[in-house]
Amino acid sequence: MNRRQFVVAASGAAVFARIPRVLGASAVKYDLVIKGGRVIDPSRKLDAIRDVAITGDRIAAVGANISADSAKVIDAHGKLVVPGLIDIHTHAARVKDGPSLCLADGVTGWIDAGSQGADHISDTVAIAKSAPQPARVLVNIGHEGILPGGDTMDLNRADVALVRAAIEKNRDMVAGIKARLSQDVAGANDFEVLRRAQEAATANKIPVMIHMGQTVSPLPKLLALLTPGDIVTHMFAPPPNSIIDSNGHILPEVIAARRRGVFFDVGNGRVGHLRWDIVDAVLKEKFLPDTFSTDWTPEGRAEQVINFPNCMSKFLNLGMPIDQVIARATVNAARVFPVFHGRGTLNVGAPADVAILELREGSFEFVDNYGNKRSGKQRLFPSGTVLGGKPI
Ligand SMILES: [Zn+2]
Repeated sequence: MNRRQFVVAASGAAVFARIPRVLGASAVKYDLVIKGGRVIDPSRKLDAIRDVAITGDRIAAVGANISADSAKVIDAHGKLVVPGLIDIHTHAARVKDGPSLCLADGVTGWIDAGSQGADHISDTVAIAKSAPQPARVLVNIGHEGILPGGDTMDLNRADVALVRAAIEKNRDMVAGIKARLSQDVAGANDFEVLRRAQEAATANKIPVMIHMGQTVSPLPKLLALLTPGDIVTHMFAPPPNSIIDSNGHILPEVIAARRRGVFFDVGNGRVGHLRWDIVDAVLKEKFLPDTFSTDWTPEGRAEQVINFPNCMSKFLNLGMPIDQVIARATVNAARVFPVFHGRGTLNVGAPADVAILELREGSFEFVDNYGNKRSGKQRLFPSGTVLGGKPI
């Protein structure tokens, strides 16, 4: 069974397990009904005009012409209704209003990927804890966090004991370890930094997310340290050390890593992480991302990233079918971190997290991290969010 078959099988099983017996009963009262939208839920292979009914904080029914009765109604005619978006690489915990800004974009779950190391992990943990949506942080292996001069340029900053202590202290909120490995971040220390991150992660049974691209060490050498459940972000980073060889073919070690359960994530960002010619080459090889993510920052809101739906639109315009685009921002992302398990779906009984998006036709410009422009005919815009059954 490959990963996709597993996802389908697993989610199929979940559907049967969660359908309550009362579904056949008539006079069901709902609190909220999202009416008339195009519901796309890849976890159920659903793409149809449907209503979504919510009771309390749970999805109660998805069907045609659900009677709203006394329920509150959101009119979603002409819009897409999809599971709440899950963004596994953001820096939403860097600023106080990060969580609410992301929520307005349809993001009902996020990971802060290593904004802080052990020294200041309580800062990002506090923001994640007070976020309206489920959120967790990755602790940067560099104990001082993201540094302009490079997080682990001084190898002493990759201190296993400090990271382990930070995890111990925040066990419920630290979902993994982030190792940024580019030459300007870790220099020639990349391999040893990752080895140390892995040492701390293994002891705590949490994943490592590596920031790949422009590393000193060859990518295969770094990938060899990754185990099932680990994440490679910035998968479209240009050379040196991208995921393709000079002939545009995916490195065999990259394919092997995916096969053993390592996730490959977009991590759009703004600097050095995504170039159109690399995206073209990788998609041509049909090595599709497991997950999309924004690498969201306040700066990214103003350019390139803008918001999660905008990042998703890039792949829509590169020819990826819309259900596949939605899958990578919902059900696939939900599998990566335990906090999101059971989310990223509109299954009956699932948490009632919903993103309402507008798919507009027109002429839109998308920019990679190198100032190269691409135009596209479609763009997704956030239109509304429901979190735990409550419209935002
Ligand atoms: Zn990042």
